[in-house]
Amino acid sequence: MSLKIIEGDITKCETTAIVNAANTSLLGGGGVDGAIHRAAGPGLLAECRAFHGCPTGEARITKGYNLKAAYVIHTPGPRYAGGNRGEAQLLESCYRNCLLLAMEHGIREIAFPSISTGIYRFPLKEAAEIAVRTIRQYPQMDVTMVCFDPVTREAYEEALETCLREAERRKNMENLQDTEKLQEE
Ligand code: ADP
Repeated sequence: MSLKIIEGDITKCETTAIVNAANTSLLGGGGVDGAIHRAAGPGLLAECRAFHGCPTGEARITKGYNLKAAYVIHTPGPRYAGGNRGEAQLLESCYRNCLLLAMEHGIREIAFPSISTGIYRFPLKEAAEIAVRTIRQYPQMDVTMVCFDPVTREAYEEALETCLREAERRKNMENLQDTEKLQEE
């Protein structure tokens, strides 16, 4: 699998698809959503209107219009409200549904922004861990996390390191258990 973490502007990405951290209206907004609509041009808004919105955690695909990316996958992230309103599960659904929709369309290359950690105020460390854990479940995909600032980039780099360390620890435990089993036999 490949999961790259970079600092940059997702509207400039040359991947096949970029993800938009949208809101449930799908009619544009602030942050990365506004930037994507501005860069894509009015065709994007016209295509989005036809969906009549999208529930939080789901995903919808459009063309990329004036963007370098051929497609935009729009997903409304959860607005953070303390953590007891299913925010973590909804954020995981965002990443999962974007990846599944990309795969259905034969797309292998996809770039994500840090969904929900801007205006929607999802705690960055937890959001990064959810994103990395979910993305790693789709090893057939080439994923780039496009972070807009160094603090966000560092959070995703740390989440990836933690995830890799845990995977290594699990593998060592399994090997140890196998060895013990062999010794018992
Ligand atoms: P949300 O409402 O899901 O929190 P925001 O757009 O407010 O969405 O923020 C999500 C993340 O996207 C934040 O880390 C923000 O800094 C970042 N962001 C804003 N503009 C861009 C851009 N052009 N490219 C990549 N990331 C961006």
